[in-house]
Amino acid sequence: LTDYVIIGNGPAGIRAAETIRKNDLKSRILVISEENQPYYYRRLLARFIAGKYKPENLTVYPPDFYEKKTIEQMLGKTVIQVLPKEREVLLDDGQKIRYDKLLLAVGGKPVIPNWPGSNLKGVMTIRTLADAQKMVDFSLGKKNAVVIGSGLLGMNLAQSLREVGLGVNLLVRGDRLWSAMLDRKASDIIARRLEKEGIHVNFNMEVKRVVGDDSSVSKVITREGTEIPCELVAVSIGIRPNIDFLKYSGVEIDKGIIVNERMETNIEDIYAAGDVAQAYDVVYKDYRLNTSWTIALEQGATAGSNMSGLHETYCGLCSNTEKVYDVALTSIGIVTPPSIDCEVLAHDLEEKNAYRKFVLKENRIVGALLIGHTRDADRVEKLIRTEADVTDMKDKLLTGLV
Ligand SMILES: Cc1cc2nc3c(=O)[nH]c(=O)nc-3n(C[C@H](O)[C@H](O)[C@H](O)COP(=O)(O)OP(=O)(O)OC[C@H]3O[C@@H](n4cnc5c(N)ncnc54)[C@H](O)[C@@H]3O)c2cc1C
Repeated sequence: LTDYVIIGNGPAGIRAAETIRKNDLKSRILVISEENQPYYYRRLLARFIAGKYKPENLTVYPPDFYEKKTIEQMLGKTVIQVLPKEREVLLDDGQKIRYDKLLLAVGGKPVIPNWPGSNLKGVMTIRTLADAQKMVDFSLGKKNAVVIGSGLLGMNLAQSLREVGLGVNLLVRGDRLWSAMLDRKASDIIARRLEKEGIHVNFNMEVKRVVGDDSSVSKVITREGTEIPCELVAVSIGIRPNIDFLKYSGVEIDKGIIVNERMETNIEDIYAAGDVAQAYDVVYKDYRLNTSWTIALEQGATAGSNMSGLHETYCGLCSNTEKVYDVALTSIGIVTPPSIDCEVLAHDLEEKNAYRKFVLKENRIVGALLIGHTRDADRVEKLIRTEADVTDMKDKLLTGLV
């Protein structure tokens, strides 16, 4: 029998536990989490703020799931050290837990820059259900919010805060929304949609300071000199993987935990998956932090398979399929051509808020944007992952694969 220990009960950790259980019916599986909450849909927290879900509807599995699968949970405990020589993890209450195989699926924490005023009461980030509940409570009776950062979370937060009646200014550092995943045209389509709902999208604007006193925020002042009155500042400029507790463990760290295609770290029997893992990306040809719910599930499944003795590889690719209001969007890989030897195929149906774009290198797709219709996202993703030659499919790519 094998003692499996999984740190983190998000999608990466729980999918790994489920996968291990499929392959190994008898061994002990223990999931440790700092949060008191059983596995829940973290990805829905921005919409939770709009009152779309009750906390109990966010839970992924019914309570008897863990019993049926004989997956033990230790909630409300933080791992503060990993001791590979002893094959133990140390908890904040002093307990040591032995493992044969260990998975690090600890996610990340939101980044808050060091602006003057960034520690004021109305400046908030969301990572946990507790954070989201705090924002819901705080936003009651407030009039105006500033959302900083225009990634998926920033856009969804702007939408949700607007839906509960606040005036919303979205601050975008560059000249387009979600610059890592959208091009200018896609950004324009989504910005128009946000503006239509009364959200002010402010491009090329960076925060200089947040002004307020002990009890409240009164405004944000930008580097460009604009003053925006608000009582709530929602910061969403990215996450930093939770790697500090690994400092003396010998686990190889860069921006996150470096893993190979089997999700193994440099230390035998220690694996990593999800937002904390820095895995090889097939289009960027580099080790990258690709963070999304689906990626965490895929990496968790790969880690779980390999931990339980199978051989499975994960092909890293940055991919997101989401919605902002009713605009469906898929963004995969490199969406703005990195060099002049790339070919761009684009089909613009702007009046219908629909747009397709493919970036090709040597007749292989390295990136795709599907705005409006995302039905064939999985097939496009497969073409990218398999590095398929699409010379004969160029017309079809633009009109749709299904
Ligand atoms: C508000 C919000 C909205 C989002 N919206 C979307 C979306 O629309 N689409 C999308 O694809 N993705 C979205 N995401 C991102 C998505 O939720 C993450 O990519 C996904 O949850 C990552 O899964 P994970 O298992 O790697 O980590 P997490 O889900 O972060 O889970 C990590 C777990 O590890 C635990 N942990 C951390 N450190 C320790 C420690 N030292 N000891 C013990 N336990 C520890 C934490 O308590 C947590 O339970 C959103 C995220 C947020 C916060």
